Amino acid sequence: MNDGSEMDLVIRGGTVVTASDTFRADVGIRDGRVALLAETITGARETLDAGGLMVLPGGVDAHCHLAQPPKGKVEYADDFESGTLSALAGGTTTVMPFALQLPDMSLRESVDDYHGKANGKAAIDYAFHLILNKTTPQILGQELPALIRDGYNSFKIFMTYDDFRLDDREILEILAVAGREGGLVMVHAENHHCIQWMSDELLAAGKKEPKYHATSRPMAVEREATHRAISLAEVAGVPVFLVHVSAREAAEQIAWARERDLPVYGETCPQYLCLSEEDLDRPGFEGAKFICSPPPRDAANPAALWRALQLGTLQLVSSDHSPTRFDDPKGKKVGGTDAPFTKVPNGIPGLETRLSLIWSEGVTAGRITANQFVDLTATAPAKMYGLTQKGRIAIGADADIVLWDPERRTTIKNEDQHHNMDYTPYEGFEVTGWPVTTLSRGEVVWQDGAITAEPGRGRFIVCDTPGPVVQAANRSG
Ligand code: MN
Ligand code: MN
Repeated sequence: MNDGSEMDLVIRGGTVVTASDTFRADVGIRDGRVALLAETITGARETLDAGGLMVLPGGVDAHCHLAQPPKGKVEYADDFESGTLSALAGGTTTVMPFALQLPDMSLRESVDDYHGKANGKAAIDYAFHLILNKTTPQILGQELPALIRDGYNSFKIFMTYDDFRLDDREILEILAVAGREGGLVMVHAENHHCIQWMSDELLAAGKKEPKYHATSRPMAVEREATHRAISLAEVAGVPVFLVHVSAREAAEQIAWARERDLPVYGETCPQYLCLSEEDLDRPGFEGAKFICSPPPRDAANPAALWRALQLGTLQLVSSDHSPTRFDDPKGKKVGGTDAPFTKVPNGIPGLETRLSLIWSEGVTAGRITANQFVDLTATAPAKMYGLTQKGRIAIGADADIVLWDPERRTTIKNEDQHHNMDYTPYEGFEVTGWPVTTLSRGEVVWQDGAITAEPGRGRFIVCDTPGPVVQAANRSG
């Protein structure tokens, strides 16, 4: 028996699951942090019964898009309020959305603008990645290094999209800044001109339905760009992170690089593990609900991606939540239901469904252990981006915890979701595993199907140096 009289709260009777271990323990929480782990803790001011449940670190979703400015007429449906409420209802307690570099603004002004969107709205803690879509000597020489020093040290760049893509020279220059200043570059790897050419050919042949989105960007497009991103990072001598790896052939490139001891890392997403290109071929315009880039692949692909997760070739599973509504002129139907696939906004939602899908298809299906699940969805993302207080159940860590029922069966329905979307691509999916209670810094924010958090309670997290950057620095001595 341990005296918990100094604890604000004790979680009693659960099985704690971390990235490395599974053990019976009570968890004592004081001032929002884990303060005591013991077989039995008595006398705390409040008790939460976790009998029969697993006690996991809350999810860390290191790739999602919230309150991103409109792209033409297309609006992202979720802001920091609906997005974070949806996340916590799914057991996620930290999100990392993107501060987009805005035209006619400095990077710092863009980041400040984004803080304005999060402040007072976020219900759980959050950190930012940057999105860089242009480079100038001013940006690379001054603005970006200053932000990295302030803890904004991960930034996404694109090899495709007309208004985002950077050429190889620009990518090299950004990689070099990351190397000098201690940042981590995240790459969207698809070959722009291949996609353009394939799309033109398809449209010229009258092939414009949603399913041709997948045809227009086959695996080779992602494989080539992944290899090129790896090679550019090798030339610059810095770590690189491949976002939303969708194709097994792209994962093979990452495995090849890691075999050569290059500091190359990557994530995949539930849509590449649970959906396929067949979904884009649903009748009428329904396939548009599954348009995202890169696209879901053939039916044999998920098994290869699970293998990449098992082997550690890919280290994280993130949602890439990109909420564009379906039946909405500011969403998928911006060009009407006859629009060619090239005019359909990309992106699908998934903040709330990520953990249940990965538990169900991963742990319940016997592909990964519960410890691997915790690592892929919480611990590894926190380490990757330097969120030192998150993604763990350990003395001193933030008490971001989810009480998880590993047996509970649920059918996913959009009407039960808390995002501001009018559909989920996982409608009707039967999943096992569900967040019964979610705690953020020791406060119950979700319990028995009800949100108990006030928007605005979430705090901004200043990131420490990303894990891969620390490792690379140690290696080079
Ligand atoms: Mn992307
Ligand atoms: Mn994205």
